[in-house]
Order: sequence, then structure tokens, then C-alpha cells
Amino acid sequence: MKKTFKGGAHPPENKEYSNSKPIEDLPLPDRVVIPLIQHLGAPSKPVVSIGDEVKTGDPVSEATGFVSVPSHSSISGKVISIGAFPHPFGKDIQSVVIESDGEDRWNEKIKFDEKYMDIPVKEMIEKIQNAGLAGMGGAAFPTHVKLSPPPPKKIEIAILNGAECEPYLTSDHRLMLEKTEDIIKGFKLIMKILDAKYGYIGIENNKPDAIDKMRSITSNEKNIEVVGLNVKYPQGAEKQLIKALTNREVPSGGLPMDVQCLVQNVGTALAVYEALAYNKPLVERVVTVTGSGIKEPKNLRVRIGTLFKNLVDYCGGYTVEKGKLIMGGPMMGLAQYTDLIPVIKGSSGFVVMTEEESFLEEPKPCILCGRCVDTCPMKLLPCTLGTLVEYSKFEMLGEYNILDCIECGSCAFVCPSKRNLVHLIKYGKLKYNEIRKKSA
Ligand code: SF4
Ligand code: SF4
Repeated sequence: MKKTFKGGAHPPENKEYSNSKPIEDLPLPDRVVIPLIQHLGAPSKPVVSIGDEVKTGDPVSEATGFVSVPSHSSISGKVISIGAFPHPFGKDIQSVVIESDGEDRWNEKIKFDEKYMDIPVKEMIEKIQNAGLAGMGGAAFPTHVKLSPPPPKKIEIAILNGAECEPYLTSDHRLMLEKTEDIIKGFKLIMKILDAKYGYIGIENNKPDAIDKMRSITSNEKNIEVVGLNVKYPQGAEKQLIKALTNREVPSGGLPMDVQCLVQNVGTALAVYEALAYNKPLVERVVTVTGSGIKEPKNLRVRIGTLFKNLVDYCGGYTVEKGKLIMGGPMMGLAQYTDLIPVIKGSSGFVVMTEEESFLEEPKPCILCGRCVDTCPMKLLPCTLGTLVEYSKFEMLGEYNILDCIECGSCAFVCPSKRNLVHLIKYGKLKYNEIRKKSA
């Protein structure tokens, strides 16, 4: 059986810029900007004041509910400002700015606990929340919430997402090669928390070295299987990954837990291991800095809150004066107008493309070719959704399941008229949700 899903697209992979570059540690920055929103859910609340001394790993904010996580200082030094700063989400967001003392003194509670496997499950989930974990594949949903399916939901199959189908990005690929054992330990902890019977590790076939390495480390694990997947975008989207690995289909409007599955990214699995075995909060991550607009593309381990400009400088700077800056990949990433924004927990990459490379062109009218329909992995009618939004027929969007759109961008990529379908659909979702709220 072919391990894939119906629909999808084949954008140029462009991974050769950085896939053979081992992870390098970025030198510590002079200051970091730690936003209080780096996750989906309620913003966190500051617990430090200007002038406070902090160590690496100290909390600078606390969660404000179950669907919320704290943020931590990623360097040691002094809090010099708390206020609104530019953020990758496109608006200014309340952040804590810390100036480094150059010593990188870590919180003393961060140390190895050899009995980490024996921690009771409830305590594990609390520790994961206190460590500030949010999905590191890009969506940044709080990890402890995902690991707490509400009764009577049960998770039978845990899935480790190593697909990394987004063009250009190679941070997960490098992590799978360089942190294989720790990732597997994290995955086993996830399976233990969920009491999952089986574990699948899904990796696209364009990463044969990662598949081999993962297989060699799991060869004695009877209930864990490493599966090579067809190279197709968006193979790493949760519902598509579940379909490819288990042949189960998440129902319209449903969640992976509705088919007894749960998906976690490889970077998140590593963070789970470090949170439980070392009590280490999420203060650093691997970021791919790449694209033809970057002089020396690299995979860098960087402290959260470091400005992207520092990463680009370390990579030799830009090759073009006016590149197109994207946090994440070109299909699902967020376009940026500046590099003076901080790395956040969901920053898997910083891609700089030249104007010619960018997929964006002036949109033309729909020619009803149907390519977007054939491509949509969620079996939607993107052209119809786009037209309904253009004609402000927001109340009709529910009939066409607009909320099932995973914003993967496949439809816009294949559209010969270069219609800005994702932008229209995102706007349509917003308006449709407003209507639903009002009628409720
Ligand atoms: S409609 Fe949504 S899910 Fe379908 S291809 Fe377009 S962006 Fe992807
Ligand atoms: S791919 Fe573009 S032109 Fe073709 S039907 Fe869809 S929106 Fe219209």
C-alpha cells in the first residue's frame, strides 16, 4: 500500500541548501525578546519586573489557564523592559526583554533525574505545562493539552511526525539524525502518558538517512514502527499523516483523538524528554536559516527570543537587498516585513527568497479549471470558497466546510490564475466564525 493521502501538491523541495549542514550553536545574543504569546491559547502573564536578575530557565511569565503555557528566560541577565515589541504574528505583542550578563547561569533545578520514567503521569503533564512546551512543528498548540484527551477519549496510536514536508526546512531532519535517541525517549514518554498501544514514526522518503537511523534505534521496540512516506505536500499535516499511516480518516470538524490517534512533532518529542528527564524548560530550538537570499544557509540551535537578524548575520548576511522574508516555510509560513523579530517556540525556519522564486504573482480571474479541487487534501472546493468570500456570502461558507481547511496552501500553489485562495479562505473563516458566534 502506498503510504500517502489523496490530493496534495509537489512544490520544489529546495532542501539541498541546508539538509547536509549539521546543527551549529548560535553564539549567545546580547539580549533576547521573550513574547508572552508564543502558543495558541490564552497569553501568559509576566512574573518579573524591570531590574530583576534572571537565570537561564527561570520563568518570566505564568500560564493563565489550562490552554496556556509560561515563558522562560533563555539567557541569564537583567530584565530591562516589558512592553509591546514586533512579533512574527504580524503585530506588536507584550514581551519581556532581557539583557545578557554573558555568563549563561542556569536555574539550579535543571538537572538530570534518573528516575524520570517513574514520574506519575499527572505530574508529567504538569511538568510539561510548567516547562512551557507548545508544538514545535509550527502550530504551537500547548503540548500538555494535547496529551490530556478528555474522557472517554482514548489514544490507541501515537504518531511521531518526522515528515517535514514543507519546502526548504531541514531542522527536523537534522534533529532526527543528531538527537535520535533522545527523540525516541521523548516519544516513549508520550506513549506512556497516553497509554498508547502502538507508535508510528512517519518520515518522508526523501530522508532515507533519518529513516535508517530511526529504524536502527527502534529495532528492539516491538510496538514502534518507522514508516517511509511518499514525498508529497502536505504529508506532515496531522489528518493526512494519520490517513497515510493508519488509513483512518478524521471526520469533518473532528480531531485526531476522534480516531484514537495523536500526532506530535519530533522537536516536541525531544522537548518532552528534556522537560521530564532534565526539568528543562523550552528555552532553545533548532531553526533552519535558508533560501537563495541567504549567503550560507545553516541549521542553528538558538535561544528563544533571539532576533532573526542575529541568525542571518551568523549565516553571512543576505545575497539580495530586498528578499522575501518568511518565518517557517513558503507554503504555510508567515511573511515578515523585518528581521528584527524574535525566534519563538514555533519558529522552525527563516526562509529568504528572491522575488523571482516567490510563488506570489498578480491574481487573475478563476478559469474554472478545477485543479485546486483535485489538489485539496481536505476534499474542499477552494475555488467556490474563494468566490463566496469575494462576494461576501459568508453565511454560506459552512455548507462548504470552510473550517476544515488546514491552510496548507496547495490550492494557491497549483492555481494557474494565481488566486490568493488561502488569504480569502482565512478571511472567510474569520467572518464565518463571527456569524456563528452571533447566532449562538
Ligand atoms: S482549501 Fe485549504 S486545505 Fe484545501 S488546498 Fe486550499 S489551503 Fe489546503
Ligand atoms: S485552480 Fe484557480 S483557476 Fe482553477 S478552478 Fe481553482 S481557483 Fe479557479
